[in-house]
Amino acid sequence: MEADGITKWKVKNKMSTLDVLTYGFGLATDQGSVGYSTNALLRVGNQNILIDTGPSSRRGFLVKSLREKGLETDDIDIVILTHMHWDHCQNTDLFTKARVLVNPTEIDYARAPNKWDLAVAAGMADMMRNMKVDTVSEGDKVVDGVTIIETPGHTKGHMSVLADVDGEKVLLAGDAMPESGSIARGLPYNVFWDVSDAQESVEKMVAASNVFYPGHDRPFRVEGDEINYLEGTGAIQVMGSTDGGGSASLTFTVSAKRTVNVDIVQK
Ligand SMILES: [Zn+2]
Repeated sequence: MEADGITKWKVKNKMSTLDVLTYGFGLATDQGSVGYSTNALLRVGNQNILIDTGPSSRRGFLVKSLREKGLETDDIDIVILTHMHWDHCQNTDLFTKARVLVNPTEIDYARAPNKWDLAVAAGMADMMRNMKVDTVSEGDKVVDGVTIIETPGHTKGHMSVLADVDGEKVLLAGDAMPESGSIARGLPYNVFWDVSDAQESVEKMVAASNVFYPGHDRPFRVEGDEINYLEGTGAIQVMGSTDGGGSASLTFTVSAKRTVNVDIVQK
């Protein structure tokens, strides 16, 4: 990925700013998938709020992105975890000064997940014992203009964040809405808990906002039937290697369409 390829989407008003620190992608390959979640920095007054912390493979990238905003990990006051899949929460231990907000149902779920949900970060529930964890539920106010909405289905205790930014409601969706296709489909592309809950959660989010920061896609706005992406990285670079000889060991073909498994795992 290009080191300087982080285009910042910034929404400013007097009170709050929202920046994507690491963009989310849904990279599906015929050899398996890679999970890169959206990690966003919401600043309200003097409170620095981080939504999701991403996979360990992006740990250094997350720290670097924070520094580009003039912040160190200790400057984060609040971490909100949409859910406890590894690709959204593996770097939570970096933020020892922060209050970590999680839905209590998700903590229980992480301790005893659906046995086929292998994406739950092993050890996270234990790691949380050493952190300042506060449980939050539907309608809880995080700070002025930032509230929790429960969006179960993808996991049992998934939640999203509704924030007033620049005079409008913006929804940081996590994997309850991983990409723009969830709008047309009425479902996220992976459901580990319950399809009808997941469907209701998409409906609930669409009723609450039309600006979405999805878990594995760039932020977008829904305008009528159109999806309009906001500023963000629209291209990533994939590197092969010719170090072993004259020819590359891998070449790449790219497809704009991925195979979608809506209900791969159910409770
Ligand atoms: Zn997930």
